[in-house]
Amino acid sequence: VSESFVLEDVEVFDGTRFTGRHDVVVDDGLISAVTPARAAAATPAARTLLPGFVDAHVHLGFFAPADVLRGGVTTARDLGWPLERLDELGAADGPALLYAGQMLTARGGYPSRAAWAPRGTAREIRDAADARAAVAEQAARGASVVKIAQDPRAGPVMAPEVVRAVCDEAHARGLRVTSHCGALEQLHIALDAGVDELAHGLWSDERIDDGIIERMVRARMTVVPTLHIDPSPERIENTRRFVEAGGHVVYGTDMGNPPLPPGIDVEELRLMVRAGMALGDALAAATSCAAAHLGLEDRGRIEPGARADLVVVNGDPRDDISALAHPALVARGGVRA
Ligand SMILES: [Zn+2]
Repeated sequence: VSESFVLEDVEVFDGTRFTGRHDVVVDDGLISAVTPARAAAATPAARTLLPGFVDAHVHLGFFAPADVLRGGVTTARDLGWPLERLDELGAADGPALLYAGQMLTARGGYPSRAAWAPRGTAREIRDAADARAAVAEQAARGASVVKIAQDPRAGPVMAPEVVRAVCDEAHARGLRVTSHCGALEQLHIALDAGVDELAHGLWSDERIDDGIIERMVRARMTVVPTLHIDPSPERIENTRRFVEAGGHVVYGTDMGNPPLPPGIDVEELRLMVRAGMALGDALAAATSCAAAHLGLEDRGRIEPGARADLVVVNGDPRDDISALAHPALVARGGVRA
């Protein structure tokens, strides 16, 4: 049941920048007013309001959805789970959920034998025609993106023409394709095939040369860096050079894998800053930019008319980013978690 409430004298991060102290009114699931704080005292604001976080790479089945929501993630996109178990992931007391369904992979490819992956997480692909069928299966089950897993360190990978068939079929259905690229060669194949997003940036320690970074930027490829899960200097440096070249980065963690917490991952934000992003840009990548990337224009901002997906933290993340680790209040669609 959505409530009406007022957040008085909160410092606001509006999805793109910090805008000062405001009173914010929530009504009927939406933000109805954002006005300069009447009670602003001389002392620093005690609390900061941000849009609920949008995590573009999770495996939600490893946590109770309610814990993830209370941790500040109000929208999550699951990037690999068996079709017949997707119902486990959606919960009224959890984040709003988008999902890929299965990970499309070569026969015997990652994650078909991965210890973490429940049976059916991988959809093994025989050839280009089967790739098109597999995309149709995920789309029929409500997938909002198609995930491919290409990791030569953990098994066979799909040939370029098979990846191309995945992209063509997905794009014809209005779906984007995100790829797990376990080595540089798979990044080249992804670029040639029209893959839209890298689910882990490059998931190896090889250097991406400048020409490829330029190609990624020109192709408007989105990088979801997932740095915390493997914060190697090489991966941070590749991300830094992509950011410096003007590349589009969206926050995602691979939540579900240890040691990532359910909820906002402060360490991921710290690593994004280390990769050259201003704190405000990292927060935007986790709110307004992530929402826009996922086609969810109704959220990710603190402004009148926006969906009331909210995180309130004690203190100010500009003084201490770890303020985000334990939200004082989280609301999804105006309903307090
Ligand atoms: Zn993942």
